[in-house]
Amino acid sequence: MPILNLVKKLLKPEEAPKPAAAHPGPRIYPRSQHSISRRQISPNALKVLYRLHKAGFRACLVGGCVRDLLLGREPKDFDVATDAHPEQIRKLFRNCRLIGRRFRLAHVRFGREIIEVATFRAAAPEGAGDWVREEETGRVLRDNVYGTIEEDAWRRDFTVNALYYDIADFSVVDYVGGMEDLKAGVLRLIGEPEVRYREDPVRMLRAVRFMTKLGFVLDESCRLLLPRLAHLLEDIPPARLYEEVLKLFLSGCAVQTFEALRRYGLFGHLFPLTERALARQPDGFPLTLVAKALENTDRRVAEDAPVTPYFLYAALLWEPVRLEALRRQAEGATSAVAVQEAASEVLSAQVRHVAIPKRVALPMREVWTLQPRFERRQGGRPLRLLSHPRFRAAYDFLLLRSEAGEIEPELAEWWTRFQQAGESERRKMIQGPARGRRRRRRSRRRAKPRETSES
Ligand code: ATP
Ligand code: MG
Repeated sequence: MPILNLVKKLLKPEEAPKPAAAHPGPRIYPRSQHSISRRQISPNALKVLYRLHKAGFRACLVGGCVRDLLLGREPKDFDVATDAHPEQIRKLFRNCRLIGRRFRLAHVRFGREIIEVATFRAAAPEGAGDWVREEETGRVLRDNVYGTIEEDAWRRDFTVNALYYDIADFSVVDYVGGMEDLKAGVLRLIGEPEVRYREDPVRMLRAVRFMTKLGFVLDESCRLLLPRLAHLLEDIPPARLYEEVLKLFLSGCAVQTFEALRRYGLFGHLFPLTERALARQPDGFPLTLVAKALENTDRRVAEDAPVTPYFLYAALLWEPVRLEALRRQAEGATSAVAVQEAASEVLSAQVRHVAIPKRVALPMREVWTLQPRFERRQGGRPLRLLSHPRFRAAYDFLLLRSEAGEIEPELAEWWTRFQQAGESERRKMIQGPARGRRRRRRSRRRAKPRETSES
């Protein structure tokens, strides 16, 4: 074929790739066909929506809040998407701050509530750059690429997260079939699952989070890819994973989340040392300890009580620390030194996967290094330990170890009694019987060495 013909053939219009606009138009669900009422929407979010609308811009609620409202759940926060550009948004609100150096978002503040207002954006050429906050990576990934509402919908992760509630007529706008998935309880990535996971492997963690939190079934093709692509988490900056892991474990269903993460082979790429240690004894107390810590977390989340990330991390990483400390003790280190050194070693290996900020790492270390001190119950030591600023958390951790069956319950019971005891009883506890028993034991040991088997 002459070259010219070949070129002509290649350029034939019907063979050119279809433009992105080839997607079918949106399905619009008018107010009468969905359950979102303005009474459920934060008054501040409504103020923002109305003011944008009055100024002639398109203004919608989007993402998690629309999904949660449709499911009858209380949204954590309300995000707004609009065709107004950041500078235009700023001019409309006095209480507004632009954040981000290049991909700028507006934060409109009302007392303690912040309404995040984002301009519609098209997908970045490199895919996921726009979901990564600059402060998490320390680098700027790309410039803003503003887009249409439709482009904004297609770059989102799951169909149920890409619904828009339009303040112009109170309808729900659906480009991706999210409404049907929502009704069916299906979590489905928008587009080609493997492409979307590869663009941003954190979507695998988000899949697990939404699946357990919403009680949805993850679409099969999205589910089957998880074990195969789990290793991609190794390329995610540890600082970003820290945030995601916290969201996973503070979602209120940490136990199920943890099980799902292990089932799909994701956990080992977040906490490799823990996964290895747990795999050594699949039904033993190490797993019980983690499970109990997560149960406590879920209970606290349900009661709206504060949850301390350092306690959670202390539990998640305790088994590798404990094993490493035992190894060092076998080589002659004292228990205190062994735990100190094991903590450093485990931490420095762990932060290569999931970062642990100093404000978390310091108290976590203290919880660990105080553990051997609970074993010393004579003289002035117990009182000194009691007045340690981290005593309460360390004692809770001791209880956890005891409940999980790692240590004799007697030790934890002694500390419970010691805290409740009056001055004179405390004096007895740290002197009389404990010392006496010790002396007697020693003298017996000297007399009949073979009979002493306690340790
Ligand atoms: P939650 O209730 O837990 O906050 P959410 O759906 O609001 O859930 P966010 O992390 O707050 O989750 O994100 C808001 C929205 O931004 C999501 O609903 C989704 O549309 C989009 N999004 C967030 N992260 C990603 C990502 N990594 N890839 C694609 N879209 C994302
Ligand atoms: Mg959200």
